[in-house]
Amino acid sequence: EQNHRESLMIVSGYAAKFFHESLLDTDEGQNIGLSYFKERGFSNDTIKKFELGYSPDQWEAFTGEAIKQGYQEEYLVESGLSVKRDNGSLYDRYRGRVMFPIHSFTGRVIAFGGRTLKSDKNVPKYVNSPESEIYHKSNILYGLYFAKRSIREEDNCYLVEGYADVISVHQAGIENVVASSGTSLTVEQIRLIGRLTKNITILYDGDAAGIKASLRGLDMILEEGLNVKVVLLPDGHDPDSYVQKFGTNAFKTHIDQNKKDFIVFKTDILLKEVGDDPIRKADAIRDIVESIAKIPDFIKVELFVKQCSSLLAIQERSLLTEVNKIKLGKQ
Ligand code: ATP
Ligand code: MN
Ligand code: MN
Ligand code: MN
Repeated sequence: EQNHRESLMIVSGYAAKFFHESLLDTDEGQNIGLSYFKERGFSNDTIKKFELGYSPDQWEAFTGEAIKQGYQEEYLVESGLSVKRDNGSLYDRYRGRVMFPIHSFTGRVIAFGGRTLKSDKNVPKYVNSPESEIYHKSNILYGLYFAKRSIREEDNCYLVEGYADVISVHQAGIENVVASSGTSLTVEQIRLIGRLTKNITILYDGDAAGIKASLRGLDMILEEGLNVKVVLLPDGHDPDSYVQKFGTNAFKTHIDQNKKDFIVFKTDILLKEVGDDPIRKADAIRDIVESIAKIPDFIKVELFVKQCSSLLAIQERSLLTEVNKIKLGKQ
């Protein structure tokens, strides 16, 4: 109920403040957390704006202080900030990690992502808050609170994979950027963006996983009736690494020169794989037609069929027949 949710948000807000102060005002936080963020190129303003933090590398630093301040165990555990041992005692979920608070649409802290500073492959890179009454992963986009004004103004939303991508792109002056952190993109997240703009530009990592996620994401976005473009980054780069390495101007130029309409993106990817084999080419074309068939608006369907026809040198009529078969099959 309302009081319960409010209590969870209050304890989460307290935790964000605790981690932020531990980053800025303690020796351990400065030496380990702050220097890490500095090395990644995050400015002081950015660190403040996103309320970035550091969780001390101890078992009960946060929990102990929170209990001392009068926060109840119930909320500490339910928010996931503390974990209960079998013997009933509590310990900190986040230890020795840099902390990314996740904000609600209205700017309240509702969850955290904590990144390890170790390169040990057996340690999970990110630990995220568990689901709770205030944090339903599938309904949350990281960065949306900071991005919403710019998304409306630009009438476009950049979709990236991770926390650091949101932050670095934002710092570079492109503020209409969000991430579906901790989950793969959901329909609810697309609808959330859809209330602010009908245009989404996917900007995922330039690796096989990023391409696969882009293909999946664009189909979902089309199905929701939104327009989608895709920017592919050079292999091995993500938006954060690209903009930090090459700078804001190069990043913007890359986006302008590589932004592809979903059909062009999909055509490039699929036809590259099939070569001259007509059977495999037919499969690739059918795959593109499947995407077009997801678009609810028939006028758009016809325009994309035209584009597809000229790109692939296939009769419009054949494509439209296939689209209609798929659409009818779904009714
Ligand atoms: P960094 O730049 O800090 O190394 P990243 O964002 O580039 O991190 P990726 O491996 O590209 O990391 O993953 C993208 C996003 O997926 C992360 O930002 C995080 O939200 C989520 N993620 C990655 N690894 C994990 C994990 N082990 N557990 C939960 N979520 C994860
Ligand atoms: Mn990745
Ligand atoms: Mn990264
Ligand atoms: Mn990445």
